[in-house]
Amino acid sequence: MDFKKNVGKDLVYYTIPSFENTGLVKHCFTSRLFFKEKAVNENFDLNPKDINDNINRYDNYKKLSAALDIPIENFTLSDQIHGDNIYVVKENDKGKGLSSKVIIHGTDAMITNERNIALTTFYADCVPLYILDPIKKAIGLAHSGWKGTVKKIGAKTLRKMSDEYGTNPSDCLIGIGPSIGQCCFETGPEVFEKFKAHYPDSFSDFVKERHERYYIDLWSANKAQFIKLGVPQNNITVSCLCTLCNKDVFFSYRGESGNTGRMAAVLMLL
Ligand SMILES: [Zn+2]
Repeated sequence: MDFKKNVGKDLVYYTIPSFENTGLVKHCFTSRLFFKEKAVNENFDLNPKDINDNINRYDNYKKLSAALDIPIENFTLSDQIHGDNIYVVKENDKGKGLSSKVIIHGTDAMITNERNIALTTFYADCVPLYILDPIKKAIGLAHSGWKGTVKKIGAKTLRKMSDEYGTNPSDCLIGIGPSIGQCCFETGPEVFEKFKAHYPDSFSDFVKERHERYYIDLWSANKAQFIKLGVPQNNITVSCLCTLCNKDVFFSYRGESGNTGRMAAVLMLL
């Protein structure tokens, strides 16, 4: 099962059917597309940097708020550094980065069991990881680029949910969202060597070599982390959408030489 494309009144965004079926969360992965006076625009940028000084981007948050029916005060943003810090979001963090100007600093993953806090992380080719524990009613959201994938931020986020909330991986639903695919994620030997060192038993399952260039499947590497912890394979939804191949729909850092906007992953417990 894949992510589902939703064409709303104002924007195009993606959702995970298994998450929707629980009735426990609101969530999405945005695209770059929005509609203005019935014309399609391609710059639905949600980059959090200096958001309060940028009227267009702030306005995009208002559109997102309306589309998801989540009050703008509930969006809670983090400032990502391609690290593996995991921040436990509490009620008094609600609104950070948007309605309250201090963003959650230096963290690529957030977890919470508080309701009505819309965890929000940012992407342009990196992999969004959504975690829902429907039993303990807790969520996690992690930004996993190749560095995060090497650091296994997905597995660390799920383990942190076990420590904090008693989450059992076998209960969890996982969504692995649109990002750069193996088709386009070409690297040199330096990046490949890091994967080989951190995935000594399994790197050959998700790396293809061609003329000393390496093509890495970040979706499979992230999926393998969750399976290893005990998440059932059938509970994992992988969007097989490559952001670079589909750069008419998604922002792509590689596809636009770094000069591009950011999409958002949003996940909130009801
Ligand atoms: Zn591609």
